[in-house]
Amino acid sequence: MTVRHQNTIAKPVELHGRGLFHGIEAAVTILPAEDHTGIVFRRTDRPDTPDIPAHVHNVTKVPRRTVLEVVPGVQVETVEHIMAALAGLHIDNVVVEINAPEFPASDGSCIEFCERLMEAGVQPLTAPVNCLQIAGCTQIDAPDGGQSLTVRPYIQNIAAYTYHLNYGVRSVIAPQAMSIEVTPESFLREIAAARTFVLESEIKALQSMGFGKHLTAKDLVVVGPSGVIDNELRWQNEGVRHKILDCIGDLALSGLSLCGHITAVRSGHHLNHVLAQRLHNMASAVFTRQKAA
Ligand SMILES: [Zn+2]
Repeated sequence: MTVRHQNTIAKPVELHGRGLFHGIEAAVTILPAEDHTGIVFRRTDRPDTPDIPAHVHNVTKVPRRTVLEVVPGVQVETVEHIMAALAGLHIDNVVVEINAPEFPASDGSCIEFCERLMEAGVQPLTAPVNCLQIAGCTQIDAPDGGQSLTVRPYIQNIAAYTYHLNYGVRSVIAPQAMSIEVTPESFLREIAAARTFVLESEIKALQSMGFGKHLTAKDLVVVGPSGVIDNELRWQNEGVRHKILDCIGDLALSGLSLCGHITAVRSGHHLNHVLAQRLHNMASAVFTRQKAA
């Protein structure tokens, strides 16, 4: 299989909705862009500020979500779901305009982003994609233990994910695991509609701090002591599917099309960002060696 060419979308598309954490209404316009543009965010309500490239070196550490900023205080928040939709559908170059600090939460999954992007249509470009073919094994462990991310070589030009979700025997969320080779087709079928989940105790704590005050248990998957509250799971293992979605979105911040097998154990946004930075560094070293040869 040869390295695929870069893609954009055939025409602009729009969507809108309230953000998960802040509840602010946001209007989003996704615009086609040329080869090597990458994914670029633009705050149209702050026209005096620079564009924010979707790159791991623009990540600013905030709990429970992925936030990017170039100028202090001018951020785009909760970008992981639109990033997953773009990466999952192999859309490499777009400018994303947004008139608020946080992306619409929609139903807690990325299916609405995918639907809009497919409505626009995928437009092939001419340059080959920046592909990092993993040649050796790299593992990152969280300092507090219990979480890890490993990348290993896999079939050429294919990205595969295995995720082990296990919060211990006392957790109301049952252990789940899943493996998938990610193509646009498998992403749409198996991952894109998997929703964010949260414990009832966690959402109460967040709401007491002023976050997500507009949310009800119908807006995402809330798990209480007796199971899912006021909602039905789309899959029995919807939780692990969403963790793979987040991982795909966060690793896309490496700016690369990753070809290898990623194995995650309870990994969250922070560990995902550490691996995205490591992958970017690995690719930079490979490209420097290729230039020197
Ligand atoms: Zn998520």
